[in-house]
Amino acid sequence: MDTEPRLELIIGTMFSGKSTELIRRLRRYEVVGYEVHLFKPQIDDRYSATRVVSHDQLQKESIAVQCAQDIASSLKPTTSLRRIIGIDEVQFLDSEVVSLCNAYANEGKIVLAAGLLKDFRDKFFTFSDGKKTMADLLAVADSINYFSALCTQADGNRSCGKQATRVQRFVDGEIAPVDSPVVLVGGKEAYAPRCRKHYVFYA
Ligand SMILES: [Zn+2]
Repeated sequence: MDTEPRLELIIGTMFSGKSTELIRRLRRYEVVGYEVHLFKPQIDDRYSATRVVSHDQLQKESIAVQCAQDIASSLKPTTSLRRIIGIDEVQFLDSEVVSLCNAYANEGKIVLAAGLLKDFRDKFFTFSDGKKTMADLLAVADSINYFSALCTQADGNRSCGKQATRVQRFVDGEIAPVDSPVVLVGGKEAYAPRCRKHYVFYA
């Protein structure tokens, strides 16, 4: 197993298996004795307040945090390099998470962060304080894995099924106005993966 310190990003669209992949990677480290700390923003309480649960119900205990500083506060200092820091739904935290992840990797730790690259408008997701975007996190990462979903647009009596690299948001069954709030945590009733052909772009 590669134990070089680094910041690994698991990014992509909704419904692409990011949380599943994050949990899978963290478990591999746990099996060989790493101390794994998994965090997730408080805002994301779709399934559980204290666990990360993927859409396919894979789950792992986590610590809910309000901001990036809460991650630093909850980790007791250690000289052990066998500590892995996992963050799910990283895009919902504040901009400080960028320097925090970078600092941990510089200290010799392995940081795995999963999150949405772009919002429903197809723009880089902006952190909660509006100062930085996911593009800034990409800039300090050592490895980036991009995950896409499959387009669910109806095509005759089946779904399109092409690679979906975007997510369309619907409000009351209609495509969401461009000025609707960026953060609106929901499930399949509000968002759907779309391929380039079926995603309705905003001007
Ligand atoms: Zn499609």
